[in-house]
Amino acid sequence: MENLVRKLFSGTEYLSHRLESEELILELGAVQGESMCPHCDEKSNKVHSRYQRKFSDLPIKGHPTKVILNCRKFFCTNPSCEHKTFTENFDFIKPMELKTERLITEILRVSANNSSRKAKAILEEEGIKISKATICNLKNKIN
Ligand SMILES: [Zn+2]
Repeated sequence: MENLVRKLFSGTEYLSHRLESEELILELGAVQGESMCPHCDEKSNKVHSRYQRKFSDLPIKGHPTKVILNCRKFFCTNPSCEHKTFTENFDFIKPMELKTERLITEILRVSANNSSRKAKAILEEEGIKISKATICNLKNKIN
């Protein structure tokens, strides 16, 4: 699992995993030495606080996967920046998002040529639980 995590979630380390019903709950820790302030692009390594993000990813070994990521807020050390703190960013998920980029890509790929109802059925077979409304919302976002 450690190697898989290193490959799929850059900037994190594997902490633990467990199965709840059929769902895989994967807990990760952030290990990036620094992060870039999205407001001024200045890098900082001064940790302000810690918090948990929870989001969904593509199924791992056939299990619907939920990730708990222990990540951090940093102080922006740029005196001319208007923001005192910012949340750590990762390349596999956007800020505030509840799904990884690769999960969104897969949902959009399947739903591109299918009705939302059909897409929901195909995705469920792949181990991705999603509502028709969420599929519609994602499609609308890119159109
Ligand atoms: Zn800043």
